[in-house]
Parts: sequence; structure tokens; C-alpha cells
Amino acid sequence: MHFYFRATILFVCILLINGGSFAQMSDAVDSFTVNKVLTKSEKKFPKFYREFNYIKANDTLIKNIIFVEPKKSLDNGPAKAGPKGNIFIDIKYLEHEQPDFDDDRLVVVLYHEIGHLHYFMTVPVADRDPEENEKYAFEYSLTKTKELADKGDCKPLKVGLKFMKIRSESDNLQDPHVRALKKMLNEQQYSSYMEYVKLQCK
Ligand SMILES: [Zn+2]
Repeated sequence: MHFYFRATILFVCILLINGGSFAQMSDAVDSFTVNKVLTKSEKKFPKFYREFNYIKANDTLIKNIIFVEPKKSLDNGPAKAGPKGNIFIDIKYLEHEQPDFDDDRLVVVLYHEIGHLHYFMTVPVADRDPEENEKYAFEYSLTKTKELADKGDCKPLKVGLKFMKIRSESDNLQDPHVRALKKMLNEQQYSSYMEYVKLQCK
């Protein structure tokens, strides 16, 4: 109860600073539950667990990582980055594997959100553009998952490319993810990642 109360106060403060819809539609999860779920995720999602702990310890641009539980049956995807340096993670995705979100995909999502964070931290508010922001996030996830592939694990890079292709085929041009992907898939950089996978990931 005490933990929950403290978490709620912290969350309300963060909400006031951040003002993101993901945050407004969710409740913060108490630290006892978060620790329990994270401990279990070491076995269930070992790559996510490893990368999560690495970035938490080494990425100085991250201010807070907040685990949330969306209200009712809302689902806004596994994670979201806020413009003030906070990352929100829907704890459901670590409690049980969700369709299309296995360990490899969670690594991709994590680096996509970190990419957003880097965009927010390096591009002044007046110069920000939703499509550029998504492009930056996708490119960051590709850079980081290729680093993993260079070290011998191609799966996160492969799964990232696969879902980028699928999402690029959407007709929803209101969605900046879709617009960014339609552009990216015609670029040389994307082809070079595909070529890399073909040659290096057997
Ligand atoms: Zn995004």
C-alpha cells in the first residue's frame, strides 16, 4: 500500500511534466510488482533483460523508466518515450509473452523508444517533426540491433526488418510510423541492412 501510494504520487508528478496520452491512460505499477516481474523476465525475456539493464546503467539520456498498466483493456503497444526523458513500459508485455512480441521484438521496441528519447534530447522543440522522429527511432533500432548481429545474434535485426516491412504496407498515412517507413524502405540504408542479413545471417 505504502509503495503503491509513493508510486502513484511519483506518477502523477511525471504525468504533469510529461502530459503524454500513454501516461494519462495508464496507472503506474508499484515497485514491488515491478521488481518481481523484472526478476522473472531474466528467464522469460533474457535478451530484453540484458539490454534493458545495460541501457539503464549506461544511457545517460534516460531519466526514468516507468512501468505502467493501461486502464481497462487499452493497449497502446509495449512502450512509449516521453519528451522529457521518461520511458513508459506496459508491464503486461513482460508478464506474459504477447502475440508478435517475443524477446527479440521487445529488444527492437526498447531501442526504438530509446531512439525517440535521443531525438527528443537532441532536437529542439521548434525543429521536431513527427515523421523525422519516427525515422530516427527506426534507424536507431536498426543500428543497435545490427551491433547485436555483428556479435552473433541476428534475430532482433531480422525481426525488426520484418515488422518494418509489414508496417510500411499500411494505408494509414495519418500515422507518422507508416510515413517514415514508406520513405525508409526506398532508401539505400534499408537495402544495405537487407543485404547484410542475406550475407551474414544464415
Ligand atoms: Zn515510434
